[in-house]
Amino acid sequence: MPDQVHDVIIVGSGPAGYTAAVYTARANLSPIVLAGSVTAGGELMNTTDVENFPGFPEGVMGPDLMMNMEAQARRFGADIRNEDATALKLDAPIKEITLGSGGTLHARSVILATGSAYRELGVPGEKQLSGHGVSWCATCDGFFFRDQVIAVVGGGDSAMEEALFLTKFASKVYVIHRRDSLRASQIMADRAKANEKIEFIWDTEVIEVRGDGKVSELELRNLVDGTESTLDVSGLFVAIGHDPRVQLFADQVDLTSEGTVQVEGRTSRTSLPGVFAAGDVLDPHYRQAITAAGSGCVAALDVEEYLADTADTDAAEAHQTPKVDVAAG
Ligand code: NAP
Repeated sequence: MPDQVHDVIIVGSGPAGYTAAVYTARANLSPIVLAGSVTAGGELMNTTDVENFPGFPEGVMGPDLMMNMEAQARRFGADIRNEDATALKLDAPIKEITLGSGGTLHARSVILATGSAYRELGVPGEKQLSGHGVSWCATCDGFFFRDQVIAVVGGGDSAMEEALFLTKFASKVYVIHRRDSLRASQIMADRAKANEKIEFIWDTEVIEVRGDGKVSELELRNLVDGTESTLDVSGLFVAIGHDPRVQLFADQVDLTSEGTVQVEGRTSRTSLPGVFAAGDVLDPHYRQAITAAGSGCVAALDVEEYLADTADTDAAEAHQTPKVDVAAG
């Protein structure tokens, strides 16, 4: 038995991880949050104005929102560490977490809140102009492109959804797709094709994003005839899918066909007892700060219930009269 066994360790520090920390801290479970050594706060640390998180009528900067969540969790005693979990052993009743700094922690329960990573195009200019015209989130940033000409890359449901949402603001939305047919569901494809503000550019990839401090044009390549051209736009939304961050535990908990953590119904319970998931890591669809926060709350409540149930079982076993082996006596 390890020297110290914590009640709960939360791996990840986006809205899901911090909300789970607030709830478990208020439940006196003294959570430890492994917030990451360089990426504490999750995706929202890379955004500017968040205007759709309830409770902030004037909006809130993404990093401010995350720092407030962190402060709130600390206020109730959460132990938030700028540490990475580098290995997890989740199958036994006592879970073992190896830290990037070299130590090891043990806990009765673990909440996996490692989020997801938006796929990047990996072309010149994309990273440099991120937040300056390049975005991965139409609901976060679409508002800033009122009456402007912008582009979306991708041919799946996300790209259609982003493009349709962006037509509320932009004067024109190009959808640039690398093939001549969409991966998106028929209904989403039909809706996008019927929208007069949307124009498709087929069989084409973006090979460079250009602009002096702000996106002004894209360099495109036609994949059929190889011709290159430029397209004047002030924004580029990259919607080519996202990958849940499951690498640390993919071989231990069940995953869905979409690669997210499989949970039981609307709970946060994974295929392993004592292991719970929250936020984008289990959500292939909604991926909003507020849904992640709600999911963190669910995981915290599930942990509370699990620990109470296991404590009852342990107590019942401890009170059982020890069996006496008469023959041996
Ligand atoms: P997705 O279905 O995997 O589609 C990704 C799209 O991006 C594909 O069209 C793909 O092209 C393209 N792509 C991938 N890598 C690329 C690259 N490096 N350069 C250029 N294009 C690239 O991902 P998603 O659209 O995010 O959807 C994920 C899941 O969520 C799906 O199951 C989807 O149905 C669901 N979803 C549903 C809704 C809705 O129903 N309202 C909304 C959003 C998401 P290819 O087609 O050539 O592979």
